[in-house]
Amino acid sequence: MATQPCLCGFYGDPKRECHCTPRQIQNYISKISGPLLDRIDIHVEVPNVQYKDLTSDATCESSEEIREEVTKARDTQLKRFQGLKYSTNSRMSAKTIKKHCSLDSQAEELLHQAMTELNISARGYNKILKVGRTIADLDHSENVCIEHISEAVQYRNLDRDLWK
Ligand SMILES: [Zn+2]
Repeated sequence: MATQPCLCGFYGDPKRECHCTPRQIQNYISKISGPLLDRIDIHVEVPNVQYKDLTSDATCESSEEIREEVTKARDTQLKRFQGLKYSTNSRMSAKTIKKHCSLDSQAEELLHQAMTELNISARGYNKILKVGRTIADLDHSENVCIEHISEAVQYRNLDRDLWK
């Protein structure tokens, strides 16, 4: 799913000015219901692509390299859920989440802070743990650590109080 950030479409754009009032921006975003947002695993802001970036020669990971990493992470999950009816982190139940996404005290504290400050729902909380588990898998990490949770929290940016 995709949406504009506001009525005029330029809120947060570094180059063009948004002419909406804070009230209009809030009304625009709050039209997406909380329960709907809760069911979306990852929220990402996608800025306009600048011409110089489209034409730049800068190299990044190739599709083949990314595919290889994703395949490895899927294999890890396949092994994790052996004998169960599903094979991906996204399908974990609350009970399975507890088993596979235990956090150390640092990560726990960060998540607690994010939950309180960003007013994240219980469903959002479980999404963060599942996405954090996947980030840890991509990182070949057995444990879900603070850096994985911190990245996963960033993918809940539409949960933030700012919009409510
Ligand atoms: Zn605007």
